[in-house]
Amino acid sequence: MSNREVRVRFAPSPTGGLHLGGVRTALFNYLFARKNNGKFILRIEDTDQTRFVPGAEEYIIKSLEWIGLDVDESDLKGGEYGPYKQSNRKHLYRQYAEQLVNDGFAYYAFDTPEELEDMRKKLEAEKASVQSYGPATRMTMKNSLTLGNEKTQELLNSGVQYVVRFKMPENEKLVLKDIIRGEISADTSLLDDKVLFKSDGMPTYHLANIVDDHLMKISHVIRGEEWLPSLPLHYLLYRSFGWLDTMPEFAHLPLILKPDGKGKLSKRDGDRLGFPVFPLDWTDPKTGEHSKGYKETGYLPQAFMNMMALLGWNPGNTTQEIFTKEELCSLFTLEHVNKSGSKFDPEKNKWFNKQYIEQTSNEILAEYFIEDAKNAGFEVNKEKASVLCGLVKDRAHFTHDLWLQSEYFFKAPTEYNSANVKKFWKEDSPELLSKSVEILKGIDDFTSKNMENIVSEWINSNGLSFGKVLNPMRLALAGECKGPHIFDILEQLGKQESIKRIEDGIKNIK
Ligand code: GLU
Repeated sequence: MSNREVRVRFAPSPTGGLHLGGVRTALFNYLFARKNNGKFILRIEDTDQTRFVPGAEEYIIKSLEWIGLDVDESDLKGGEYGPYKQSNRKHLYRQYAEQLVNDGFAYYAFDTPEELEDMRKKLEAEKASVQSYGPATRMTMKNSLTLGNEKTQELLNSGVQYVVRFKMPENEKLVLKDIIRGEISADTSLLDDKVLFKSDGMPTYHLANIVDDHLMKISHVIRGEEWLPSLPLHYLLYRSFGWLDTMPEFAHLPLILKPDGKGKLSKRDGDRLGFPVFPLDWTDPKTGEHSKGYKETGYLPQAFMNMMALLGWNPGNTTQEIFTKEELCSLFTLEHVNKSGSKFDPEKNKWFNKQYIEQTSNEILAEYFIEDAKNAGFEVNKEKASVLCGLVKDRAHFTHDLWLQSEYFFKAPTEYNSANVKKFWKEDSPELLSKSVEILKGIDDFTSKNMENIVSEWINSNGLSFGKVLNPMRLALAGECKGPHIFDILEQLGKQESIKRIEDGIKNIK
């Protein structure tokens, strides 16, 4: 890699919720920037006003924040190369389109939609080998190449609608370089004359993207594989502008594939198989359709980052799968990004989240717990929440499980799991529980360890079995046979509540 300052950009178009492919592109740009002491830039590419979706830009910003991808330059953050939203850079692009026309690399075209449709039909009928507006067809159309200067000027002055098209060179064989894929060959005679600029003053994606990458001194373009077909045009634009010496290096990331079968992961796969495809909840403002996010499902942002990082990247010779953000930032290289697509594995993602929940401190988990408790109508202090998180976290796949696994600490059972009753509630259960109530009543130091010693001693010295006493007791305390160590449950419920629940169980379990 040259010793040029590393400057990368995430350049989403605000056309909807940020899907997982976009998240992964943002993440790889971020990791690459951090690894190389570079800058991570957020640029909003909103030149296509017809696809603009309200709220999408804010959603993108919030998503990056949640995942922990801190941006170095953006409209919010500031920076030397702003504005960072293309609609606010509109005034910049016309001169570049005109430069290309003046230098003979682009031309004005005045074809109406009907004329373009006629061309398409004609080429289709002729079964032409290349069916597009390009080297083979442009001289049959209405543009500055066929009309001549005078007529072109006249049309421009009359205010008719026009576009500026790139003049694709004929019969050039290009060999381009992609950091992930190696050499990419392209034959320009198969490519078309893409529209670069429209008479309403708006550039298209291709022109704005190249001009901005140049002006923002972008060193590496890291983006999804769907942009690979645009690489020849982008290279030719750099060449036509005379900017090849500072052209960024390119890296096209492989697709994220469906968990089952072939093809690109889609929102439908998420709906069908029950996993989110957006980082945060997203409501489509047009259809009102609501999609659940990873955050709201109960994923920790670090777990989400970890699972996304391994979608198409591997750190090389190691079986390690859990990586802190710092480790990812120091290990990441584009050379270790796979060429082929990577299968999305929702079960593995749950596993990641579980690992992170287990590793996260009880105090941090308590924040999630307190929030969920509040939503269920319970005020829980931080200390209590931390203790309970410590007891249940090894059973939690999602942050919400922390509360769901602990609800019974706050609500006495109103019914008892019938399968558990059938299995564990025996004829002698009421009697054994009555006796254990007597034992518990006599314990002053109602702590887990102390109770365990006293109750175990009683069970052992009377030749009773642990299961016969403790399973029915658990049923009475929690309504079902689940949860942490039973003496921890007793300690957390406290003496009075524990005894009350056991006595209620004796009366009510049948
Ligand atoms: N605006 C494009 C997108 O939404 C950016 C492509 C690129 O990174 O060049 O994917």
